Amino acid sequence: MRVYYDRDADLNLIKSKKVVILGYGSQGFAHANNLKDSGVSEVAVGLRSDSNSVAKAESAGLKVLSMDDAAKWADVVMMLTPDELQRDIWNINLRENMKQGAALAFAHGLNVHYNLIEPRSDLDVFMVAPKGPGHTVRSEYERGAGVPCLLAVAQDASSNASEIGLSYAAAIGGGRSGIIETTFREEVETDLFGEQVVLCGGLTSLITEAWETLVEAGYAPEMAYFETLHEVKLIVDLIYEGGIANMRYSISNTAEYGDYTRGSRIIDSRTKKRMREILSEIQSGQFVTEWMSENGAGQPSFKAMRRRGAEHPIEAVGEKLRGMMPWIGENRLVDKSKN
Ligand code: NAD
Ligand code: MG
Ligand code: MG
Repeated sequence: MRVYYDRDADLNLIKSKKVVILGYGSQGFAHANNLKDSGVSEVAVGLRSDSNSVAKAESAGLKVLSMDDAAKWADVVMMLTPDELQRDIWNINLRENMKQGAALAFAHGLNVHYNLIEPRSDLDVFMVAPKGPGHTVRSEYERGAGVPCLLAVAQDASSNASEIGLSYAAAIGGGRSGIIETTFREEVETDLFGEQVVLCGGLTSLITEAWETLVEAGYAPEMAYFETLHEVKLIVDLIYEGGIANMRYSISNTAEYGDYTRGSRIIDSRTKKRMREILSEIQSGQFVTEWMSENGAGQPSFKAMRRRGAEHPIEAVGEKLRGMMPWIGENRLVDKSKN
């Protein structure tokens, strides 16, 4: 695995370019502001004119362009709109408008890897994918550090795509902690697998099934919340800081014994078999085909699942309990007014 740092990157490459960030959400907010603070003087945000992100980007002192004008103006276009909209944005706003020899960049390889977007052959196509949410990409940069980034090149028309990508990654702070070389395929398949099996799908199912088990057995919903959701953070912080052994060092021997003897009964070889099934649905493109047809239909089941999820009684219990713990709300990671 190759890792690059600030000393390997030529920051002047990106500083000499007109850079457009399409979208001003979680990642767009971080990329645009970090680039500006790294001395990229010509940075602009491309948005729809009716977007409520226009005011947020302008109040951060950023120039805002329409999607078409942004595409015409830029040497580097970073696509930070939702993945499911990128194909239409490419077809409608970028394909005809981007300059000859410009670069098209992504923070996730999905659209390129699954051929939803087939970029013009004169364009460089690279990926700079921070391994953290946008607010962390921004806050780490602000304190002089940075979130590690993945760097990959899908199309090298200029013979310089990798150097431009490296320069971009350094300008958003990645070179302070490490820029790791990968491919679009590896990034997409591991990213989808991680979020489906562990980070989002696996974890939320584990929490809600366990909460329901306790509540159905007659325990107080509040007690169930503390034990199956609230304390996840305490455990994850220990694992994050020093690995699984570090967490086991900190918990009681009783908890550690329960971990060894009960954990593998919950997540067992049958679960692993289903993990392999999910991985092959990702590799074959079946998952993305399903997700794109859901989008084509206007996201009916996605919206219904989102609504049902938000209505789950664990959310009401959580809201009440978090009200008793005001420190949780201080320094919020999610601030909907800024990004
Ligand atoms: P987001 O949903 O937070 O923000 C997307 C933004 O796009 C919106 O805020 C809006 O400003 C804009 N937008 C929405 N619809 C648009 C349209 N039709 N035309 C133009 N602009 C539109 O998205 P995000 O989470 O920042 O994701 C952006 C990219 O970054 C995705 O490719 C994602 O996979 C990738 N990524 C995200 C994270 C993360 O932690 N959120 C981490 C790494 C990579
Ligand atoms: Mg992802
Ligand atoms: Mg306990």
